[in-house]
Amino acid sequence: MECVQHCPICGSEDFALFASSKDKFYGSEEVFNLNKCSSCSLIFLNPKPGPEEVLKYYPHNYHCYFKKKLSWEDALDLYLMNRRYRKIIIKERKSGKLLDIGCATGTFLSEMQKRGFEVWGLDINKEVAESARKQFGINVFACELKQADYPSNFFDIVTLWGVFEHLYELKTSLGVIRRILKPNGLLVISIPNAGCLEFKLLGEFWAGLDMPRHFYAFDTYNISLLLASNNFHILKITPFGGGSKVFALSMEGFLKERLKSIFLKDVLINFFHSFLFRSVTAPYFYLIDKLMLGSIIIVYARPQKS
Ligand SMILES: [Zn+2]
Repeated sequence: MECVQHCPICGSEDFALFASSKDKFYGSEEVFNLNKCSSCSLIFLNPKPGPEEVLKYYPHNYHCYFKKKLSWEDALDLYLMNRRYRKIIIKERKSGKLLDIGCATGTFLSEMQKRGFEVWGLDINKEVAESARKQFGINVFACELKQADYPSNFFDIVTLWGVFEHLYELKTSLGVIRRILKPNGLLVISIPNAGCLEFKLLGEFWAGLDMPRHFYAFDTYNISLLLASNNFHILKITPFGGGSKVFALSMEGFLKERLKSIFLKDVLINFFHSFLFRSVTAPYFYLIDKLMLGSIIIVYARPQKS
């Protein structure tokens, strides 16, 4: 584990313990700490695992590494999520060279390829990168962003779907993205929103924290500060939706820790993850998103003109 001495965004040394917690989803007795910067309000894991060490916290059943045989609920979830990603990009650009950082099994890239985009992917997990190459014939490297030797001014679009908060080095990564994007290129990232209502209500149980895999919990203020100070111009920040899924995960973490009865725990967890729950609560999550209080937001940015 490595101690963070300065706030990863504003560089301040003035931060304090915000919360401590175990890994709420994949077990282990290890306790992790979150600090909060008193200057820019960034919440960050401290100490944080090194780049190699962190791999042990991504088990085989990690939810983004979909298994070979999907249940119908997982398959539907994956389809709906990819459809949402696809619509977001197609609204902005109709074609071009697209890089997805943290592409997992490459299902989103495959969809974009079918629609005429030239696609590339990156993922630190060798197994999923190989699966993306084999299954879809996509150019996917299994390495860190800074190790992938892409040409400068090459990509029209770079996407990070729920990946930015996992990045070990924020500023180095943004420097690479800035270099490989064309001057009129587009950066699209989806991140958990630390300014959401659920975090205010559930605190450390909010699934957007996902310790120790998420190194940071951003809000609209500090993500804007980070991008602006790394030569990006923010175009817009919008809600992403999908709040009921995050809520279900938050409740899963809460119930696993707080409820003794295994039977009741299973019943409630299944209920929160069910399509019935999702359907009934859809108007609520729609409203929360409209108020920019939802759990996930999307940030659109382009390189600043030099
Ligand atoms: Zn700060």
